[in-house]
Amino acid sequence: NINPLNVLALELESTPQARILPLVSGLPDDLFEHDGQITKREIRAVTLSTLAPRRGELLWDIGGGSGSISIEWMLCHPSLRAIAIEHNDERAERIERNASACGVPGLKVVRGAAPEALADLPTPDMIFIGGGGSEDGVFDAAISALCPGGRLVANAVTLEMEALLLARHAAHGGELLRLQISRAAPVGAMTGWRPAMPVTQWSWVK
Ligand code: SAH
Repeated sequence: NINPLNVLALELESTPQARILPLVSGLPDDLFEHDGQITKREIRAVTLSTLAPRRGELLWDIGGGSGSISIEWMLCHPSLRAIAIEHNDERAERIERNASACGVPGLKVVRGAAPEALADLPTPDMIFIGGGGSEDGVFDAAISALCPGGRLVANAVTLEMEALLLARHAAHGGELLRLQISRAAPVGAMTGWRPAMPVTQWSWVK
């Protein structure tokens, strides 16, 4: 007895693979088709909380990957809009499939590399940098494109990217957060904490 309102694919009876969609951000990773390049569920939940979408806002998701951030952004409210920028063709196509499968086909996908691909896009209220942040000019282009009062959030897994975030924090202020998730996993016959790589998050208001 599945409540049809909670199901992603609308034609429930004719869709045996219909999936149940929880209402809050931090959806299971396997709801998205991905190749490993995906912001993991717990980190994504915190990231959406930091992004803090407000009615009608436009997000640029630079380095869209699987599209999970843009998709969860759009799922928060029907008035929200998002553009995912992804330079890998296969991933760009995957973002489009994931958006349709998750019921947000209005997600716009730009196939191209930041910063060049950002040039003619409509002014964003919010920018998330999940990839490409270490490339020349991406942060500068993002910061200059943001509307006044617009927000920027960037996640780093590598030390090189973390160093960039620390430098931006020193230059512009904002907030730094370090997220570290461990999951219980078998250690022989017993159980231990298996840590995922820590994520450093910088958020800033223009
Ligand atoms: N947040 C995503 C995961 C991002 S992985 C998710 O949850 O699915 C980082 C992505 O950035 C990769 O897909 C990579 O192809 C993309 N990328 C790296 N440099 C880029 C650039 N300069 N422009 C656009 N995309 C870029």
